[in-house]
Amino acid sequence: MGRALLFESSLLLGSIALGLLAMRLGASPAWVWPLALLPYLLRQLYLLIRLALMIRRQHRLAPPFPRGLWGDVYRRIARYQQRGRKSRKRQIRFTRRFREAANAVPDALVILDKQHRIDWANPAAARLIHVHWPQDDGRPFSDVLPHPDLESFIDAGEYMRPMDIAPEHNRAIMLSLRITPFGDRKKQRLVVGRDITKIYHLNMIRRDFVANASHELRTPLTVIAGFLETLVDAPDTPANHRRPLSLMRHQTERMCSIIEDLLTLSRLEMHDSPEEQESVDVPDEIHLILQEAQALSQARHRFETQVDEDLLLLGNQPELRSAFSNLVFNAVKHTPEGTRIRIGWRQDEDGPGFTVEDDGPGIAPEHLPRLTERFYRVDRARSRESGGTGLGLAIVKHVLNRHEARLEVASEVGRGALFACRFPPRRALERQEAEFSVME
Ligand code: ADP
Repeated sequence: MGRALLFESSLLLGSIALGLLAMRLGASPAWVWPLALLPYLLRQLYLLIRLALMIRRQHRLAPPFPRGLWGDVYRRIARYQQRGRKSRKRQIRFTRRFREAANAVPDALVILDKQHRIDWANPAAARLIHVHWPQDDGRPFSDVLPHPDLESFIDAGEYMRPMDIAPEHNRAIMLSLRITPFGDRKKQRLVVGRDITKIYHLNMIRRDFVANASHELRTPLTVIAGFLETLVDAPDTPANHRRPLSLMRHQTERMCSIIEDLLTLSRLEMHDSPEEQESVDVPDEIHLILQEAQALSQARHRFETQVDEDLLLLGNQPELRSAFSNLVFNAVKHTPEGTRIRIGWRQDEDGPGFTVEDDGPGIAPEHLPRLTERFYRVDRARSRESGGTGLGLAIVKHVLNRHEARLEVASEVGRGALFACRFPPRRALERQEAEFSVME
């Protein structure tokens, strides 16, 4: 900048000195000054017009640059041009790489606009969900992939859980659709469709096997349990046989409970949501569960309840009863004498919640993520002793999934455990409102 300014001022000063010299030699000022300054002005004009033309024609400014301040301006513009070119190249490279990656993904990817119309799709989308891009550009997504629940699924905005569908164009495959909002005010949607046919079939085989095996075992076990019952109580049973027979009866009863729980789980797995939904009188259910829990506890625990008597829930009564009673009975089975058990049923800003809190021994943090796995027990021996099947929390999780609810577990060793079932607000019903709709 300093040198450019020096050059520029020396040009101007040179022109002025030339004019002064001409005047001293007797020339008239009327033509001396225009003539002396003309070369300087012409140079400025020439460099300005050249720059304007180059910018207009989007020409690249390249050295050699003129000297002086104009040279500085030319050099700076050339630098901006170079930076712009680099970032454009980077953008093109990124777009190409993104497109190549999206094309290589085996999952279907579809971008929907605000009105849920197709904006873009990768090649896998054509194979898996029949969305051909660019041919289907602008078509409503639900037209291309018709399904009775699809539109409401996209509208519902619960994108954490995927939706499994057998598409109309190919009933032999099973797809898992996951939808993620993105973009300006999260109005656009990214649909990811994954082929889960294999996993789905394996899962069906496992489900059917467990259901059939449990079903086949139920009758013989019931017969054995019946005979053992009779034998233990029969007067002519030898005294030294009574203890082994009673142990056998106890173990058979345990097996029967496991079979019953396995059959419950199989039934829950048959459909994604309960077939019958009604307004469930949760306060009433809690009072019944409390009576059973008190019988199970035999006055070894202290019970407290905090129940909103007017809060009912849209759901399936037997399923909810089974989930809630599992949580309450667990608090009785897995805590020692003197433990306080608090049962809550309230509505807050997140929706209705059923909670069971105890101040028992609690559960170590490493066990918490695995509690709802089938047959997972923190202490195997103690759980068996307390009559647990290890399937209770798996049943709770399934029931809650079917009611669009989630199970939260919080615990600290030595301080107790809190199990909370959180339901979506739309499932909450006011007692009067529910009774009124029944009368209607
Ligand atoms: P179980 O039939 O053994 O009760 P669950 O699936 O219901 O099986 O529970 C899994 C395990 O979680 C139990 O074996 C127990 O170790 C632990 N658990 C459940 N509830 C409680 C609780 N309130 N306090 C301490 N541990 C618990």
